[in-house]
Amino acid sequence: MDFNDTPEEATFRAEARAWLDANAELRRPDDRPADVLSERTSPEIIAASQAWQKKKADGGWACLTWPTEYGGRAATSIQNVIWGQEEARYRTPPNIFGIGTGMCGPTILTHGNDDQKAKWIPKLLSGEEIWCQLFSEPSAGSDLAGLRSTAVRDGDDWVVNGQKIWTTGAQFCDWGILVVRSDANVAKHSGLTYFVVDMHSPGVEIRPITQINRGQGFNEVFFTDVRIPDAHRISEVGNGWAVAITTLMNERASIGGGGGGSVNDLIRLAKSVEIDGRPAIEDSAVRQQIARFYTRIKGVKMTGNRTLSALSQGKTPGPEASLGKLVGAKVAQEMASFAIELQGAAGALDRDAAAQGGDWQGRYLAIPGLRIAGGTDEILRNIISERVLGLPPESRADKGIAFKDIPTGPPS
Ligand SMILES: Cc1cc2nc3c(=O)[nH]c(=O)nc-3n(C[C@H](O)[C@H](O)[C@H](O)COP(=O)(O)OP(=O)(O)OC[C@H]3O[C@@H](n4cnc5c(N)ncnc54)[C@H](O)[C@@H]3O)c2cc1C
Repeated sequence: MDFNDTPEEATFRAEARAWLDANAELRRPDDRPADVLSERTSPEIIAASQAWQKKKADGGWACLTWPTEYGGRAATSIQNVIWGQEEARYRTPPNIFGIGTGMCGPTILTHGNDDQKAKWIPKLLSGEEIWCQLFSEPSAGSDLAGLRSTAVRDGDDWVVNGQKIWTTGAQFCDWGILVVRSDANVAKHSGLTYFVVDMHSPGVEIRPITQINRGQGFNEVFFTDVRIPDAHRISEVGNGWAVAITTLMNERASIGGGGGGSVNDLIRLAKSVEIDGRPAIEDSAVRQQIARFYTRIKGVKMTGNRTLSALSQGKTPGPEASLGKLVGAKVAQEMASFAIELQGAAGALDRDAAAQGGDWQGRYLAIPGLRIAGGTDEILRNIISERVLGLPPESRADKGIAFKDIPTGPPS
C-alpha cells in the first residue's frame, strides 16, 4: 500500500503550506502542547481562536469540505485530512470550534433545510458564532436514547424542560444542538426530536463544572420552560435519533486518537532527567518502555492510514476507525503516567511548577476524559465486537417497549 501523496494531493499540500507559511509560525519542538482540554475557556483563548477561524475563513481554508455557497471549498475528505496535518505543524490557538465545525455544521448540512443552512452555517464557519452539543444527561450517556428532557408543542414553539450535563463550552456558546423526548408513548429511539437552541434564551441556566485539573471545560445546563421556535427543529418530529446518529458519526471521526503528545516529547524528557546519576535515556528499561509506546503508536497510525486510504479512494471509513481512539487515548494516558514517574520527586509538582519537558501533569489529568468523550472504551469495544468482528449483539431488554413503560428506580 502506498501512503505517499498522489500528484494532485501533493499540489494541494503545497498550496496549504504556502498559505500557512504566510499566516502562521511553525511550531517549535519545545512548545507546550496547544490543546489541553481544560484551557479553552479563558476570554483571551476564545478571542484568539475566533480570530484564527476568521482568518482561515477569509483565506478559504475553513471547513474545507463544506459547499462553496456557505463559505467552504467543496474539497474532498482527503484534502481536509491533508489540511489538518499541515495546520498541526503550526502554532495556532486551541480550537474551540471542534464541536461546531466537526459535528453541528455537518449535521445541519445533512438534515437542515435551506433557511436553516443559510441562517447558521456561514457564521459557524467564520467563527462568529460558537456552538455546543446538548446530548448527555445525568441518566443518559452511553445509552443516549434513554434521555428524559422533554419538548412539548405550544403553537409555533416548543417548550423544553430538563437537564443536560457535560456540555463542553456551553458557558461561551451562542447555539446548541439539542435532542429531547417529544413522545414517551413510543419506543425510546422513536420519540426523540432534534432542535437548535439559542443558548441566550430565557430559562437556560448554565453551571460550569470544575474538573480535577481546575479547568471548567464542561457544564450542567438546565432548561426551564425554554421556548424554541418550530423553525429551529431539524428534520421531522420523532426523527431525532437518526439526526443524532449523524452527529455521533461525525463526533467519532473528529475526536480521533490523539491528545497525548508524541514519543519525541518523552525522549526529550528521558534525555533531560537522570536515574542514578546518568541520563534516564541510557537506562535499558526506560528505552524498552519508550520503544513499546512507539510500536503501539505506530500501530494506531497504520490503522489510521487504512482510514486515510479509504478516504483517498472516495470510500467511507468503517467502524474499525473506533480503534484509533480506543488504543490511542490509553497509550497517551500511560505515556503521561510514565513521564511523571521519570520526573521523580518533581513529578508530584503541580503542572505549572513542573515545566520539565512538556505539560505531563496537565495531560495526565485531561486524558481520562478522552477515554469517555465520544464513546467510552467499553462502548467502542462493543462497536468493534458487533460491527467489525460480527459477534452477537448485546441483549437489549427495553427494545420495542414504550419509553413511559420502561421500569425505572424511584426518584431520589
Ligand atoms: C471531556 C468530555 C467532554 C464531553 N463533552 C460533551 C458534550 O459537549 N456534550 C455532551 O452531550 N456530552 C459530552 N460528554 C459526555 C459523554 O458523551 C458521556 O460522558 C459519555 O457518552 C458516557 O456517558 P456517561 O458519562 O453517562 O457514562 P455511562 O454511560 O453511565 O457509563 C458508565 C460506565 O458504564 C459503562 N457502560 C455503559 N454502557 C455499557 C454497555 N452497554 N456495555 C459495557 N459498558 C457500558 C461505560 O463504559 C462506563 O464505564 C463529554 C464527556 C467528557 C469526558
